[in-house]
Amino acid sequence: MYCERCGAPLDDGVNFCPNCGAPSGDGPGANPYAVVPHNKDVGSDYLVLNILATIFCCRIFGIIGIVCAILSRGASRRGDWADAASKAETARLMFWIAFGTGLVMNIAYFGFALFVGAGEAGYY
Ligand SMILES: [Zn+2]
Repeated sequence: MYCERCGAPLDDGVNFCPNCGAPSGDGPGANPYAVVPHNKDVGSDYLVLNILATIFCCRIFGIIGIVCAILSRGASRRGDWADAASKAETARLMFWIAFGTGLVMNIAYFGFALFVGAGEAGYY
């Protein structure tokens, strides 16, 4: 596309003409929806973390976290940033609960195995 004021060729997605500085057709002045930052996908990081947490830690909270992360991605695609942020926050919380629960359970299991092992060693 080309600058409306001076006719210079413009790259897609630029907000201002590099030649004369006029707002381009994609810019905030021409299209109010272009102001929304489309590259922000807050749910994706927590989706990966929650999948790992589900595999290695606690399934229940991990799956809740995955669902929230997916809902957050859907909301961010719709441009509903407030909803995306709140779902991502829940996904983040669920990841840490899953991670913490998994950690405590692994330590408890390890401690129990040591305790049983020490008890059995005492018999012989
Ligand atoms: Zn121009």
